[in-house]
Amino acid sequence: MARKQYDAHCASCRVLGHRWGIKYWRGFTLLVSCDECGALREDQFNQHWEIVKRKYTYSKEYRWPSDEKIEVAALRAQCKRQARQLLRYIGEKAKARRTVNASAEATAVH
Ligand SMILES: [Zn+2]
Repeated sequence: MARKQYDAHCASCRVLGHRWGIKYWRGFTLLVSCDECGALREDQFNQHWEIVKRKYTYSKEYRWPSDEKIEVAALRAQCKRQARQLLRYIGEKAKARRTVNASAEATAVH
């Protein structure tokens, strides 16, 4: 059986912190979610805007048994794969933008 591997997005949250975005404000309740790993944080405020209760909900990918080691070499390889995919995507977007700009210049009346 293949060994379970820790998710690279979750690893970046553990190292760099979550990328919180507001999902909603309702009365004195704020719900934020992490764009990277999907974690949720719900804050309850009192009438003085002090946090009186905070609750986190993590995905099953984020949680990891404390007695199990995370295979760092496999995680690093996964991060490199994702970085290469992202760079390829950015390169393709930039190439498409240059093509559009070049054809717009070629058809422009000077
Ligand atoms: Zn996160």
